[in-house]
Amino acid sequence: MKKHKYIFVIGGVMSGVGKGVTVSAVGKILAARGFKLNLMKIDPYLNVDAGTMNPIEHGEVFVLDSGLECDQDMGNYERFLGESIPPENYMTSGMVYKYVIDKERALGYGGKCVDPVPYISEEILRRIKRATDRSRADISVIEIGGTAGEYQNMIFIEAARILKLRYPDNVIFVLVSFLPIPHKVGEMKTKPTQYAVRTLNSYGVHPDIIIARSDRPLDAKRKEKLAFASNVRPASIISAPDVDNIYEIPINFEKDGLSDTLLGLLKLKARQRNLNDWRKMVEGYKKAVEPVRIGIVGKYFKTGDYVLADVYISVIEALKHAAASLAKRLSIEWLDAVDYEESAGRLEELAAYDGILVPGGFGGRGVEGKIKAISFVRQSLIPYLGLCYGMQLAVVEYAREALGWPDAHTTEINAESKHPVIDLMPEQKKNLQDKNYGATMRLGAYPAKLRKGTIAAAAYGVQRVSERHRHRYEVNPLHIAKFEEKGMIFSGRSPDGRLMEIMELPSETHPFFLGTQFHPEFKSRPLTPHPLANSH
Ligand code: GLN
Repeated sequence: MKKHKYIFVIGGVMSGVGKGVTVSAVGKILAARGFKLNLMKIDPYLNVDAGTMNPIEHGEVFVLDSGLECDQDMGNYERFLGESIPPENYMTSGMVYKYVIDKERALGYGGKCVDPVPYISEEILRRIKRATDRSRADISVIEIGGTAGEYQNMIFIEAARILKLRYPDNVIFVLVSFLPIPHKVGEMKTKPTQYAVRTLNSYGVHPDIIIARSDRPLDAKRKEKLAFASNVRPASIISAPDVDNIYEIPINFEKDGLSDTLLGLLKLKARQRNLNDWRKMVEGYKKAVEPVRIGIVGKYFKTGDYVLADVYISVIEALKHAAASLAKRLSIEWLDAVDYEESAGRLEELAAYDGILVPGGFGGRGVEGKIKAISFVRQSLIPYLGLCYGMQLAVVEYAREALGWPDAHTTEINAESKHPVIDLMPEQKKNLQDKNYGATMRLGAYPAKLRKGTIAAAAYGVQRVSERHRHRYEVNPLHIAKFEEKGMIFSGRSPDGRLMEIMELPSETHPFFLGTQFHPEFKSRPLTPHPLANSH
């Protein structure tokens, strides 16, 4: 812990200004200077993980190889760094408090009065140390969720302050703040950020760097003003205007010399400077002109009058990676599954897309609409990719129409169906009976064996793959032979042959109709797009 360097990233003014992407981009530019990075996320909520939260509430639940269900920022870290991140790198208040309370109940504190300080703050620091030790990295970038001034993240900022006190030369603070440009005033305002700095000061923490997020770049005048009022050197105030493509951010940061500033503050000597592959990838996005239109049939994206694409962020990013690598300009359209339940005539609109995707999902709303959409694209020979629920519902659709079982269903929706083609495995039945919902789905990385001569095997180019899962239900093994008789191919299976991992239709009968029980989107990265999305 002594030589290790820590960069704490804290938000100011308001949430949603891109702290996670900032952490990812900071990680990227430092990795490009030859250091090994360790990126961590702290979420102040009491949920022990993100798995039990409604997507509308929380956005996407990202799943690590280990199976930990966590915040979507972890997905950004993996995508920018090009590495899989271990579960030690994520913590919530719930995780920390649960550990301390369980330990207290087991007399683990020897009869002491267990106050939040020092017992919670020390537990936070223990977790940070555990992650940094495991990573063998040179530098950790640690995002503290929420905004300075909130009650819920104070203890984490306090832990960071203590770490700085112990290792004054090894810990720095970055404030990611928002500078509004009020419509009527037409001028960028620094005052809210000045207050955010003062709030941090009241915790005994001073930012070494301010990342100034805004619609537009920060001009010299405002930089001077903010520097003067906040006691931060002008060179340490980094302009971070909105961008079209988040992968440009590391390049923008480097225009302001951010890695040099960070390394100077951390007293580290750079070993190299190499963002070449990254720059080439970003250029690829700019050069792509030929359009590719993908329709996503889902249900979680409407909240009031707003579209909440956050719920499918890894799917969107994975499509972006694949499109750019094929030199296509991606346009995604959000198609509400419920619309197809109400008016079947609208299905015709699906013919306008180059591909239709049904992503993961839970529960009954919109299910019949998704099945109708799948039926339409299967029969109209429109390319189809189904992810998890999207695969399960494609199996249901096939059972109803190609196998002639009109009542076929997943038991998630109809437990009484005579043809439960998607069903619970015995271990999952027990979890549901016991109301044991947290972290009990089939989660994280599992291997699958691919069948030779299939679309999947050709796309991956290997015989065995590992992909991340998050589901309870499976293709019912009782009906496999019947599906195969009618042409469906299970091209990926668990090594014991018991679980169906990939379903496809023969390329002679459909140009591309494939579903995965796992979530390939979690492993797609801008420099290494996922083979399944990339193959067509
Ligand atoms: N609801 C389905 C299941 O639990 C699919 C889950 C998903 O799409 N992630 O198996």
